[in-house]
Amino acid sequence: MAITPDELIETARTLLKERYQKEGHHTVVSAALVTKQGNVYAGLHVGTTQPSVATCAEIITIGMALTAEKDMEIDMIVAVRDKEGYIISPCGKCREYIADYSHSQARVIVPVGQTDKYDIVSVADLLPNKYCKRI
Ligand SMILES: [Zn+2]
Repeated sequence: MAITPDELIETARTLLKERYQKEGHHTVVSAALVTKQGNVYAGLHVGTTQPSVATCAEIITIGMALTAEKDMEIDMIVAVRDKEGYIISPCGKCREYIADYSHSQARVIVPVGQTDKYDIVSVADLLPNKYCKRI
């Protein structure tokens, strides 16, 4: 049975609740994704004392899935932050990663404004007219 958006959000929130540390480099954002094959992965943001070299939770989680599955494709992904597990939109860099490692119908869970509600959008909605090499 396929994982629901609420279950995927809860997966990310559970990981973050277990690891949350205020001011922690790797403990303020987590992400969870489900692949086309139905496998679920969750990972944490990895930071350093130099914020510009941090790696987002979405990218860490994509790396985990790529390591575990040959021909991995994201089916749905979400990221949450802070102790409260607020849903956040992927940053520009993550949008590129998500687009590169998703199938064409993949979904991204995003917040609706500053509310607890969420919306589910396509990767193309988040990254229209995506860069691609002309070959
Ligand atoms: Zn990001």
